[in-house]
Amino acid sequence: MNVPMPVLFVGHGSPMNAVADNAFTQTLARFGRETPSPRAICVVSAHWVTRGTEVLTARQPRTIHDFYGFPRQLYEIQYAAPGASDDASALAREQSWRASEEWGFDHGTWSVLRHLYPAADVPVFQVSLDASRGLRDHLALGEELRALRNRGVLLVGSGNIVHNLRRIDFDAGAAPYDWAVEFDARVAAALQARDAGGLISEQAWGAGIWAEAHPTVEHYLPLLYCFGASSIADEVTFPHVGIEHASISMRMVRFGA
Ligand code: ZN
Repeated sequence: MNVPMPVLFVGHGSPMNAVADNAFTQTLARFGRETPSPRAICVVSAHWVTRGTEVLTARQPRTIHDFYGFPRQLYEIQYAAPGASDDASALAREQSWRASEEWGFDHGTWSVLRHLYPAADVPVFQVSLDASRGLRDHLALGEELRALRNRGVLLVGSGNIVHNLRRIDFDAGAAPYDWAVEFDARVAAALQARDAGGLISEQAWGAGIWAEAHPTVEHYLPLLYCFGASSIADEVTFPHVGIEHASISMRMVRFGA
């Protein structure tokens, strides 16, 4: 029997992590070295939001530099992995999702993949976040991606479990806000308890803490795809944890061996 590929949620944090060498990027590199090589990678990134779900089917996707005011070095990075257009087109057909040749690799994808697979030799495609859907729908969309794991596809969700740019403290060593610590811990506990309801229960947790943790929800949604694609058989582990700049959780989640 084929062992399904693991699922990895990555808290990507600042675009500067693309060129950093720190505990976070070293954990990504170790995962890439130590996990059996995937046939292809499917990324659900916080930075591709559309109306209706789209799938990146380009054969040679461009590298998108979708951030402002960062050092020139970041704008010069190209992540030249081939597209996984056959896998992407098959998924688009099966799910009746729109195929996109126009999108490329956004920085939620390449800032992570250049540490995971620096040789850029594994084909990559992306699935967008449908802005018209609610939290429960995103969990269900993640379930639709579960079968990819048995076809040798590594699913990567790229966002952040806590993400509030308005409350950022530019001092890298700043102490995290209490609400950031609490939200991050509650999500971690819900993941380990396989409490799907807990992951999407804005009311039960109190709207206040959600509004602090996610003034906009796009960085949280990739986690729901990862959870949706996981199963009761998957061990849940956290290869990297921490809260940077007081309001950004860098927690990484691995589902499965
Ligand atoms: Zn981001």
